[in-house]
Amino acid sequence: LTTHAQAAEYTIATDTTFAPFEFQVKGGQYKGIDIDLLKAIAKKEHFTYQLKALSFNAAVQQLSANQVDGVIAGMNITPAREVTFDFSKPYYTSGVVMAVAKGSTVKNFNDLKGKTVALKTGTAGAAYGKSIQSKYGFKIKYFNDSNTMYNDVKVGNSSACFEDYPVMSYGIKNGIPLTIISKQHNAGDYGFAVKKGKNAALLKKFNAGLAAIKADGTYQKIINKYLHAKE
Ligand code: GLN
Repeated sequence: LTTHAQAAEYTIATDTTFAPFEFQVKGGQYKGIDIDLLKAIAKKEHFTYQLKALSFNAAVQQLSANQVDGVIAGMNITPAREVTFDFSKPYYTSGVVMAVAKGSTVKNFNDLKGKTVALKTGTAGAAYGKSIQSKYGFKIKYFNDSNTMYNDVKVGNSSACFEDYPVMSYGIKNGIPLTIISKQHNAGDYGFAVKKGKNAALLKKFNAGLAAIKADGTYQKIINKYLHAKE
């Protein structure tokens, strides 16, 4: 008996928990804006892939080590990352905010003096937190995933965390007992990444597919499904 099952053309890494962009549902399957966008784009452009859920930092490391072909994980297009990666056209605008536990006495950055701030390794939020650490005199504790980071703030071990606005506000709407107390700090739009100089064909397909799903309304449908759904 001969089987003709074809191996997936590409391996694309994503984050383990970053709702509404990627999150696991019952049965272990992944869903979210990134997951649906990638699926719709691959369908338009006729490519196949295998999804690999890793911590955000591991996903980025594996991409730079050439162990995966691409990353879609609510990843900001930043000048620092553009040294190592090629990015697609931006597909979503986001910024970094600070969140604290509900009822916290921390009302602004000045209140962080001597306190501990939770950051997610390798993220734009972590880079921002680190950049203002000495000015506001706080300690830093690193986490590999968003949920563990939120939990450390929730239980009071850390006084605040830095997270992307759409992700933090979605989490809060869905029951995470934190509050956002800062304005959005611009961190660049989200883009799909490949290693610099590698996988130009995949990047081209992603951009073409993105343009196509924007034009036919699929893109907006996906965004609405996760962010503007009527309850
Ligand atoms: N948008 C942030 C970044 O690019 C965080 C991404 C994530 O945690 N998945 O660093």
